[in-house]
Amino acid sequence: MLIHTIEELRELRKSWNNLSVGLVPTMGALHEGHLSLIKKAKETCDKVVVSVFVNPIQFGPSEDFDKYPRTLEADMELCKSAGVDAVFAPAPSEMYGSGNRLSNDTLTYVCPPFFYVNKLCGKSRVGHFDGVCTVVLKLFNIVQPDFAFFGQKDAQQAIIIKKMVKDLNVPVKVVQCPIVREESGLALSSRNKYLSEDGKKDALALSKILNNIKACFNRGITDIDALKETAYSYLTDKHDLEYLEILDKNTLEEQEKAGSDSIALIACRVENVRLIDNTYLGEA
Ligand code: AMP
Repeated sequence: MLIHTIEELRELRKSWNNLSVGLVPTMGALHEGHLSLIKKAKETCDKVVVSVFVNPIQFGPSEDFDKYPRTLEADMELCKSAGVDAVFAPAPSEMYGSGNRLSNDTLTYVCPPFFYVNKLCGKSRVGHFDGVCTVVLKLFNIVQPDFAFFGQKDAQQAIIIKKMVKDLNVPVKVVQCPIVREESGLALSSRNKYLSEDGKKDALALSKILNNIKACFNRGITDIDALKETAYSYLTDKHDLEYLEILDKNTLEEQEKAGSDSIALIACRVENVRLIDNTYLGEA
């Protein structure tokens, strides 16, 4: 069932009175990564809502909001075959009103703590996580899910959402799902559509760098600079590295040494497409 308005969604939610509800927030252009979240939601909950909303307030002025892939018909097909109960695809005006300047001059924003946003993706994407938290809290208030499903692919996002839920006492259980990859190792992303065939090959550097860091860690290297330095042999002039960090996987704090509680995270542009990936070092 395709729903465009908040009112309709609320009506449907009311009719699910005693049932458990799961929400999978997405920006659409759905792929197997999104599908893994939907499957987990189906296993966990009686009813599953997938939101498809390219959220204008989480994109910076020079980012890809206008060209972000919008494939609602195909998304609907995929959701239907996955047994999704409702797809919530509001227009930006439904979420934010029309005529509003979409800024914190005119809108109430949720601002996650500086410590969590002043690093990794938040450093180059200023205001991004304010936009993410604001839309996610709005979706939580609209759908009132018992469970919400997020991918480890966006590890910083998942940590920030969990923090928001805890700090603001939001009655939602956040479930984090593992990264789904192509056989090549490339993490699935809606933005992979921007890459040429050659670009996709160059993009493999991200997962190769992370796998190699994990292999080195498993061989006993725990010095973080030494682990990070192993990346350079994979990088060419086709890669514009934005960050490579090894941090505490739960808190994003810096560590003296890498350990089984560490996560390695990378962001790198290939063909000017910004790609991110990460891996837990302690994982098999
Ligand atoms: P997006 O549509 O890119 O905003 O992503 C919606 C949700 O799907 C987020 O929680 C992402 O972390 C998750 N997701 C995106 N790609 C993957 C992937 N390759 N594996 C698992 N989850 C993913």
